[in-house]
Amino acid sequence: MNEAFFGAIADDFTGATDLAAMLARAGVPVTLRIGVPEAGTRATAFEVVALKIRTLPPEEAVAQARAALRWLQGAGVRHVFWKYCSTFDSTPRGNIGPVAEMLMGALGAPRTVHVPAFPENGRRVFMGHLFVGALPLHESSMRDHPLTPMRDSSLQRLLKPQTTRGTALVDWPTVRQGAAAVRAAVEAEAGHVVLDAVDDADLAVLAEAIHAMPLVCGGSAVALPIARHLRDAVPEATVPPLPVPGPGRLVLSGSCSEMTRRQVADYLRRAEGYRLDPVELSRGGLADARHWLEQQDPASGPIVYATAEPHAVARAQEVLGVARAGALVEKALATLAADAAGRGVGAIVVAGGETSGAVTTALGVTRLRIGPEIAPGVPWCFAAGGPALALKSGNFGEAGFFSDAFAMLEGGAVAAQ
Ligand code: ADP
Repeated sequence: MNEAFFGAIADDFTGATDLAAMLARAGVPVTLRIGVPEAGTRATAFEVVALKIRTLPPEEAVAQARAALRWLQGAGVRHVFWKYCSTFDSTPRGNIGPVAEMLMGALGAPRTVHVPAFPENGRRVFMGHLFVGALPLHESSMRDHPLTPMRDSSLQRLLKPQTTRGTALVDWPTVRQGAAAVRAAVEAEAGHVVLDAVDDADLAVLAEAIHAMPLVCGGSAVALPIARHLRDAVPEATVPPLPVPGPGRLVLSGSCSEMTRRQVADYLRRAEGYRLDPVELSRGGLADARHWLEQQDPASGPIVYATAEPHAVARAQEVLGVARAGALVEKALATLAADAAGRGVGAIVVAGGETSGAVTTALGVTRLRIGPEIAPGVPWCFAAGGPALALKSGNFGEAGFFSDAFAMLEGGAVAAQ
């Protein structure tokens, strides 16, 4: 089959990986595209296109999403999923609403549904209000997000300034009546229909009701039960065997998030490590780190990390500026990744969302097949002819993540998928 059946457009990179992992968990073969594929690129049944459009001006975000849709439509897509964050991250002007309306227009859909709920991560929607843990969205830490501060919890009110069509709610009491009641309630509305969901059982009800719709908008969680429904409609949707990575392992960490700091500390007890310092990089370049890495036994899985405590990060940022410190580290880790790929290293774990973007760009990756999850939202990914990649955003995974990731490869779990 060279046709896309289900096609998702994701508004950021790690969100796309998260969604792709959910689809893989449902047992369907998933292809993740970094950016819009070139015209004529053959599609697979379940496609996820990763864009980076969350905070762009709405016109630019819509243009990129339209290009992604055109490629998917050219491949015959039947079901489109507009993936945004489960905390509804958006600026007041967009881009959740504008992209949703462009997609509705292009698909001829009089209505769409919004399902940001991600109960496993504490994101629940009740009576149209989004909660993060025990707090309404606008009282959670998202209130002070540097780029998309969320100052309201009502999804209908949040959609209003971003949209031209009306909004409606299918509330939790209706969801509790089951899929038929939800389907009838959705079909009675036009425009943007917000759906309540407080737990995974609610998401299963919603998926039963909405999986056949041409356009669903939301977080990654509802995509899992939706994919379970769609799997049966795609006879070819068996997962072909994944490649078995060759020998040689490497960890590259550019994340300074709390969980990554624990993971690096844990891994340093088992592996040789080299600490990158942005100030030293600005003075002496990367030669020393490159030399060190060349001396290591690749089979032992060495780690190169810029991961540091907040005070050290602040000091580097004072000397170099925030952007330059970040860029130096990203470029260094991306270069080391390209070196390692050139030496034939079989698998690389990358920690950090921005860092992952820099590494995949340096490796020239445009297409990844999604393998089994190491931790929720972090699958092993496979690019043709390159190392297997695990791209971990800052706070994902448990303390032993790096060792667990490699153990999974050694244990044959990947080949057996
Ligand atoms: P996360 O997923 O944890 O947010 P990212 O890779 O997205 O991780 O972001 C971390 C940013 O911090 C990157 O731009 C990285 O280059 C930068 N960085 C990493 N280590 C340091 C450091 N020691 N000093 C200053 N900046 C750093």
